[in-house]
Amino acid sequence: MLHVHQFPCLSDNYGFLLHDPTSGETAAIDTPDGGEYLAQAASRGWRITQIWNTHWHPDHTGGNAAIVEATGAKVVAPAEVLRVSPIDVAAAHGDRVTLGGVVADIIDVSGHTNGHIAYHLASEGVAFVGDSVFALGCGRMFEGEARQFWASLQRIKALPPETRLYCAHEYTAANARFALHADPGNDALVAYAQDIAELRDKGEPTVPTTLARELATNPFLRADDPATMERWGSADPWQAFAALRQAKDAF
Ligand code: ZN
Ligand code: FE
Repeated sequence: MLHVHQFPCLSDNYGFLLHDPTSGETAAIDTPDGGEYLAQAASRGWRITQIWNTHWHPDHTGGNAAIVEATGAKVVAPAEVLRVSPIDVAAAHGDRVTLGGVVADIIDVSGHTNGHIAYHLASEGVAFVGDSVFALGCGRMFEGEARQFWASLQRIKALPPETRLYCAHEYTAANARFALHADPGNDALVAYAQDIAELRDKGEPTVPTTLARELATNPFLRADDPATMERWGSADPWQAFAALRQAKDAF
């Protein structure tokens, strides 16, 4: 059983350290802030042995150099990360990486960037999804296209529903406002939005979420819902997704 240690980083990122007590290995999931990751690991007596990047954006890779210099950690990353920092293992869809004896399957979740990957640890029931899907939202479509992003979301939707999704940002309160606008008749969404407001009032994180809850409430995962398609004037789910993504950007 792995430990996931979650802590805030930068303005609204989350940092995650994944620790395997059996082997003593620790993976940094993305590296928004190298100094903060090293301090968080040290406070637990953990040494970071691997970095697992999800995509190339600096708020996910900016701490790679500092962590590698301090620990010699091995960098696992999609090839797109090469544009900002050296990597040791280029990871792509269908690959498997391990932390001690625990396996993570690499899933293509491109759309936010063209090389974005997620790490799914089936034995732990967790997935680190970076900026692909958020609680009640999804990443901005900076590099990809709607059809591609929608296909990526299908791969996330196909994971076991009890999977805990570790999203890389605390964007949930703002996402909830758009979700309620996009899907106003959804009772599960209304209840979720209330829970989110209570958590944020107490200063608590809304991450991780579960896939089951997102399947019931996240408008971007639900673009193929007949009511959503009708409301967003689209004959194809990916076009409804595109319409939602555009509307969110302008919201
Ligand atoms: Zn990003
Ligand atoms: Fe980000």
